[in-house]
Parts: sequence; structure tokens; C-alpha cells
Amino acid sequence: MGRQKPREIAVRLLGQAGRGPDYLEQRLDAALAGQELSGPDRALTQELVCGVTRWQATLDWLVARRAPRPPSQPLLQNLLRLGLYQLFWLNRIPDHAAVGETVALARELGFGAQAGFVNALLRGYARDRPVTQQALAELRTTNPALGYSHPAWLVARWTARWGEARAAKLMEWNNTPPRNYARVNMLRADPGRLLDQWRQEGVEYDFGQWDWVPENSVFSLKAHPPLTRLASFQQGWFYVQDPSTLLAAGQLGAQPGETVLDCCAAPGGKTTLIAQAMRNQGRLLAQEISEERLDLVRENCARLGLTCVEPTLAPGPAPSREPPPGPAPDSGLCDRVLVDAPCSNSGVMRRRVELRWRLRPEELLRLRALQLALLEQAGRRLRPGGTLVYSTCSLEPEENQTVVREFLAGHPGLRLEQERQLLPFVEGVDGAYVATLRRTITPC
Ligand code: SAM
Repeated sequence: MGRQKPREIAVRLLGQAGRGPDYLEQRLDAALAGQELSGPDRALTQELVCGVTRWQATLDWLVARRAPRPPSQPLLQNLLRLGLYQLFWLNRIPDHAAVGETVALARELGFGAQAGFVNALLRGYARDRPVTQQALAELRTTNPALGYSHPAWLVARWTARWGEARAAKLMEWNNTPPRNYARVNMLRADPGRLLDQWRQEGVEYDFGQWDWVPENSVFSLKAHPPLTRLASFQQGWFYVQDPSTLLAAGQLGAQPGETVLDCCAAPGGKTTLIAQAMRNQGRLLAQEISEERLDLVRENCARLGLTCVEPTLAPGPAPSREPPPGPAPDSGLCDRVLVDAPCSNSGVMRRRVELRWRLRPEELLRLRALQLALLEQAGRRLRPGGTLVYSTCSLEPEENQTVVREFLAGHPGLRLEQERQLLPFVEGVDGAYVATLRRTITPC
């Protein structure tokens, strides 16, 4: 029964999927924080929650093939998903444990009457493993939405854009647990010192190379103790962020002594990198609409020892919005402005496991309006000759190229200097889009 706990936490969390504004990852962290679990049990809970969420459509397809009627109780459906996920996706769990513990949990959760059905369905699948594995492999070609467990509308749009093979690669990427990366905070440490320290702290890392990332400034993290407990973390020697996120800050090209505006700053990944490029000299105005998230910017800047950052509540893009309390936000012109806009996050679906089921096509239009409004505000703050960078972690043209083209059409004083889309199945990092604009004449 030692492994009962992770399954029970997992099935309860899965029952809350899609509810409330917070992400599953946040609910998972909160649930784990309240439990005394061993490292392996913690990892198993994470694996079960994230894996079942990712593979939900395929798991439901498996259930539907053997259940005369799909279970009407969501908890029972989640129990079946959990059992099937262990059978077909987790090699390390023996079949008898996957079946036996799921059945025991069904009884504990009040499904004694259905325990026989759960047992029969899972045992049947355990017996027919090779046939089912073959059927799962075929499903990827015959019905990619079910075979790769993604909503049909996303599969259709990605296939139309990139073709079947690349769309499949993207979905495989989204179904793979993400790596974590750490960027060295050059203001507090250098790569040599950090790697020495990590060796003492039991952190295993790998080197990586990306054409937009300075050499030895980002490392891939393999095995490690909880990062926040490390002295190297607490002393601000590194910041956890994907290599893709360095592109926008690099394109911005901030210099020491400049005045720079970061319009959408929280939690501060790009703010802290820009501050490093400024060698902590000058003014970096870090705006954010959420007070709670602005605290994350403050915490991260404090940990990394950044004093040139001025965290400020953002005015908000809608003209009708009440101004925030406190002094009016700074409205002077800036040398450089970054708009790292709120977006669909479709380039980071491997990290946001629930996102594919929450995202709706109409959301792209709503976001586009917000992105244009943010660019509009940002443009007003840019000095002649200044650089404006627009970035998202979206793969969708409606939020990227289209937004930039539409913005430029209304602003002849700005021109596009560069744009780049990072694709997970090409660059092997999270998806990102970055456009670099320059103001050529006096602002209108
Ligand atoms: N730049 C951040 C980083 O690298 O860590 C990530 C920014 S995230 C993509 C977008 C942020 O914009 C969110 O924190 C969100 O709360 C914030 N946001 C949303 N609407 C905003 C607005 N109107 N003004 C400023 N920030 C906004």
C-alpha cells in the first residue's frame, strides 16, 4: 500500500481538471506541498497527473473500446484512465500492481460496486497488451487527434501549416515531459563557479548550444535536489528558464545606463536577463498587470541582486480601465521597449499539460486584440531610433506575424528589422516568436 498515496492524490487532482483559473501545475504543487511524500512518490504523483492529463483523449478511447457505456461518474473515469496509463505508459509498474492498486483505490473511493468492472477492463487490457499496442500505434496515422491525444482543431491547423509529419513531431514534443534549464546570473556568478558549486550540491547538468544563446550561459538540468533548497539558488546564481526565452531579451539589445520598459514582466525571466545585459545600470521599468505576479518580479530581482529594476503596476490596455492606485506610471520615452505579450502559450504545451484541453479557437482573437492594444501603448513609449521587441510563446500566426503586420500598417514610423519563430520540432526548445521593430521618425 506504500504507493497508494500518489494514486489517490492524482485521481483527486484529475477530478479538478479544467476548473478554476489556476493551472494544473499550480494545483499539483499546492497538493504536493501539503503531503509528506518520499522523492519517488512525489515523482510518481507528478508523472500520473501530468501523464493522464496529456494522454486523456487516447485513454478515453481505450476505455470506450471496452466499456459498454462510458462511466457517468468522472472519478470512475479518472480511475480507469489512471490504471490504463500505468499499464501502457509506465513500464516500471508491474501489471498486477497497476491493476490491483487501481481496484483497491476504486473501493476506497466508494466504487465497490464497480470494482469488478474496473478489474475486468484493466486485466483484459493487460492480457491483450501487444494487440493494444499495435492499435495505439495505428491510431497515430488513422486518427492523429486520438493517437497523439490533442484536440482535433489544433491538429487540423498544425497539419495545414506544417504537414502531417511535422505536426506529429510537435504533438510528440508536447507529450514529452519537459527539461528544465538554468541560466547563469553573470552578475553573481560565472559558469565555472556555478558548475563547481552544483557538483557539491548534487546537481547533474548538461551543456547545450543554441545560436541565439551566449556559450555556457544556459545549462540543461538533469537530476538534482529540489532547486529552491540549494545555496546556489538562494544566492541568486541562476534563474530557471527555457533557452527560447533568451531570444527576445537578446534582440532587445539593452545597454548599461539606458531606460528600458518591459511591459509584461512577471515572473521576471526576461526582466532579469535584460537587467543583466544592462549590468544593473540604468532604469528598467518592469510593468505587470497582476499585483500578485508583480511580487514574483520583486522576489526574483531581490534573489538575483538586481537593483536597476523598478517593478510597477501596469496601466492596462483598455482605455476605460481605472488607473491603478498610487503614483501615475512613468510615461517618459524609453530607449527600448519589450512587449512579451500574454498569448495562447501554444509553444509551451509540454509544460502546460492541461492547456490543450482549455484552449479554444476564439481565444486567439481575444488575445490578438489585447496584443495589439499592448503594442499600441508600448509604441507611445518608444523614443525615435529606439527598439521595440514583440514576443510570444505562441506558434499561431494570428498572435505573431499577423499582429505585427497589423500594428506596422498603422505605424509608418516603425519598421520591422527582424523576426524569428522558434519551433520545438526544429530548434528543440519551447516555441517562441520574436519581432524586432525600430522607430525611424518622431512619434506621432
Ligand atoms: N516576460 C515574462 C517573463 O519572461 O517572465 C513573461 C510574461 S507573460 C508571457 C505575460 C504577462 O503579462 C503575465 O504575467 C500577465 O499577467 C501580464 N499581463 C497581462 N495583461 C497585461 C497588461 N495589460 N499589462 C501588463 N501585463 C499584462
